Amino acid sequence: MNDDTSMSRRKAVGSAGLGLAVAAASASAQAQPRDAAQPMTDPTTRYPKPPFQKQSQPWPGLASRMEPRPDHGETSYRGSGRLAGRKALITGGDSGMGRAAIAYAREGADVAINYLPSEEADAGEVIALIKAEGRLGLALPGDLQHEGFCNRLIADAARGLGGLDILVSNAARQQTRASILDVSTEDFDATMKTNIYAPFWLIKAALAHLKPGAAIIATTSEQAYDPSAELYDYAQTKAATMNFVKSLAKQLGPKGIRVNGVAPGPIWTPLQVSGGATMEKLEKFGGTTPMGRPGQPAELASIYVQLAASDASYATGQIYGAGGGSGQP
Ligand code: NAD
Ligand code: MG
Repeated sequence: MNDDTSMSRRKAVGSAGLGLAVAAASASAQAQPRDAAQPMTDPTTRYPKPPFQKQSQPWPGLASRMEPRPDHGETSYRGSGRLAGRKALITGGDSGMGRAAIAYAREGADVAINYLPSEEADAGEVIALIKAEGRLGLALPGDLQHEGFCNRLIADAARGLGGLDILVSNAARQQTRASILDVSTEDFDATMKTNIYAPFWLIKAALAHLKPGAAIIATTSEQAYDPSAELYDYAQTKAATMNFVKSLAKQLGPKGIRVNGVAPGPIWTPLQVSGGATMEKLEKFGGTTPMGRPGQPAELASIYVQLAASDASYATGQIYGAGGGSGQP
């Protein structure tokens, strides 16, 4: 589906308020002059702390139905041209960390986002915010568990954007299971397909388009370094992600393509409320970090920008942590 189709569908369902909300979010992010002094904020009290209310959604969940709603920088992220003219594809760009798509657009990039068809409502909000910046926003829904779709996604993104400079391989599946005995073969397969095969297929296809100066960014996790008992299958995919970042950085460094990863700690996203965490973990989510709270996607957006920006030209093979003071790296 292209962005025009998704826009007309949104209009058809009568989301008249969305346009106003987008205009307000964009205007509020730009209201202050760039050099205006920013108030000092205490990071420990900046965002909600546990206990959180019980909540659960069917996988993959929607940010718009979370309580409290996550902050992706809609009203706060201010760009300074760091990605001007770049063309980026972000998987899982509808919600969570992938909503760094908003920051990318405010930094001057045209952005395609991939997500599952059931996430159209979240994706529509992101596309509208990208367009509010005067940037190209492409909505490319589809299931990454299929090689054919991954190939089509890269081709459609490159054609729609007029090239591809940045690939953010961020989508993932996480389902908590108390015991390895509860992980079915179908479960295991879906996690491996989404978290390990899809990046493999996407990166292979993207290489036909990526030129010297291009950047690949993968989202790994603190789980790569200190896996939780109940995330047996997911955690090993994040170790694989951390590992392929370092392998590919060596392989692609001589070609001028940088490959880096982001390793978040506990971040308030739909993945956690749609089977990614037990209810008990969710109620206390992020409480054991030195910050005493989970991170919000907005607090990681600048990391994704930094790793894509050309002034980070010596950063490759690196994993940037965002764990609120605990966890690795
Ligand atoms: P999220 O639910 O907002 O994003 C995950 C996205 O993956 C979904 O929006 C969905 O669009 C996409 N996705 C899943 N399966 C897919 C499929 N088969 N086809 C296409 N798209 C699919 O949650 P998030 O926490 O922002 O997750 C983003 C990344 O962050 C993931 O790689 C996750 O492993 C990682 N991560 C999250 C946390 C956390 O605490 N939230 C911590 C460490 C790492
Ligand atoms: Mg989502």
